[in-house]
Amino acid sequence: MKLLTTNFLTCAVKTCKTSPLSFPLHFKDATLERTEIDYNPLFIRNVLPRVNWDALTTTATELGLQSLVPARNPGTRTETETETDIKDEELRKLHNLLLETGVVEGKLVCGNCGFEYPIKEGVGNFLLPAHLV
Ligand SMILES: [Zn+2]
Repeated sequence: MKLLTTNFLTCAVKTCKTSPLSFPLHFKDATLERTEIDYNPLFIRNVLPRVNWDALTTTATELGLQSLVPARNPGTRTETETETDIKDEELRKLHNLLLETGVVEGKLVCGNCGFEYPIKEGVGNFLLPAHLV
């Protein structure tokens, strides 16, 4: 499961939807895997404006990868900045973090209800047991 994916996931438990603690989900016992993917700066640029930066920083820090996250989202420019202000080095780090870093085994834990979503062979299971639906 790519790190980018976790930036768009919240807990599926109904009562967690309104809780700020349910996002982002927190990795537990995560085994990381690096997969090399062709660097596509345009794709990264297009995805950055949709990334929740605080959540990404939290996730990366929990995995010990905070050095790959710039303090500010290079995808959200102010009007005085231009395209060229986006540093290629930052984009490459984010490519590495968001697309090439994946979690093969572990759990994603909700900070509100504590439910643990298992990740097996790189696939997260986000189905809830019947009593929580
Ligand atoms: Zn929850």
